[in-house]
Amino acid sequence: MPDYEFSDRSGGNANGAGDPQHRINLAQILAMLHVGGPQNRAELTRNSGLNRSTIARLVGEMVKLGLVLETEPRETGVVGRPSPLVRANDGVVAVCVNPDVDAIAIGLVGLGGKILRRVRHKTRRVPSVNEMISVVSKVVQQSLAEVDEECRIVAMGIAVPGIVRVDQGVVEFAPHLGWKDEPVAQLIEARLGFPTFVANDANLGTIAEQLYGTAAGKSDVIYLNGSRSGIGGGVIVDGHPLSGVHGFGAELGHTSVTRGGKDCYCGRRGCLETEVSLSRLLDIMGEASIDPDDLGSLVIASKDRRVRREVNRQLDVLADAISNFISIFNPEMVVLAGFLGELLEVNPERLLDRVMSSSFQQLSADVEVVRAGLRSQHLLIGAAELAFSPILSDPTSLARSNA
Ligand SMILES: [Zn+2]
Repeated sequence: MPDYEFSDRSGGNANGAGDPQHRINLAQILAMLHVGGPQNRAELTRNSGLNRSTIARLVGEMVKLGLVLETEPRETGVVGRPSPLVRANDGVVAVCVNPDVDAIAIGLVGLGGKILRRVRHKTRRVPSVNEMISVVSKVVQQSLAEVDEECRIVAMGIAVPGIVRVDQGVVEFAPHLGWKDEPVAQLIEARLGFPTFVANDANLGTIAEQLYGTAAGKSDVIYLNGSRSGIGGGVIVDGHPLSGVHGFGAELGHTSVTRGGKDCYCGRRGCLETEVSLSRLLDIMGEASIDPDDLGSLVIASKDRRVRREVNRQLDVLADAISNFISIFNPEMVVLAGFLGELLEVNPERLLDRVMSSSFQQLSADVEVVRAGLRSQHLLIGAAELAFSPILSDPTSLARSNA
């Protein structure tokens, strides 16, 4: 790398170890590559505000840690030596898991948010925590054998449809899975040996969509994810996720949408998730389990009028709920993920017309209602963000965890 020297001309700490500012600088550069994609050193210098020699030193250190790779650029035809491209090493991998009542989605996600492998493992019954761990262990071994590049698993992230104490890694209540007070992180760490982080699936999906998806750069967003385990919500207010006093906030699936609806496990009746329900649709369609991304094409192909009628009923209820959320949060965007994104695709006019006609006009005029850009990958990518968070906030922690 003849363009740059590794000597320090910035007047900073030449070694850097233990210097808090040095760790902050490393974290800043790693985050820029992780979210923003590959950049050359000149771009990193310009975008970070740090000087050229500091960038050279930080990149060199992260190459040694194995967190970033430098590759020779293609010939550009421009006079002068082109600058090597720096990118996050997608061989640094998080194993990401999203258990549902009928399947377990498992992904190997590389640093930089790239899904190297995604497997949807159908289960014969609702999986227990131990059954999930056994499936994950097998699928990860198979997947690692199939991935070409050398992978180094550094952590696991679990996206659970339920109420999670994130700081303890404990699933307090996941009603559809039947999990109660399950120390999921501790159980996985004991069996598989990876540092493990657990959070609510919709909250992780919201983070993924805000970083990489349709909501990138938006500050006020409502996110709704629909799966067999009901409807999870996430709300971004002024750039920050709404969490509530115990971190359980934004349970938008448990807002009341109709009197006299079906009983909900939360103790109420007629919640959004009992009235807009993938399970109710699948019952009519006679399907036991589908990939949420396939729902729209199955509905469109279906000749059964009851299916269309049920889809329309669910679209109307969803639209009324969205118009209420618009009044409360005044968002710039509403993101629909999982089977809700498929419902939108089946008949966008019906949903959007009803949202606009039943909303407070001044609030709804500019709101975009869109499908999640990451489709059903968003939960796994969100889980990877959670799993990578210690490394992203302190890249030198990877060296310590290897020691
Ligand atoms: Zn409820």
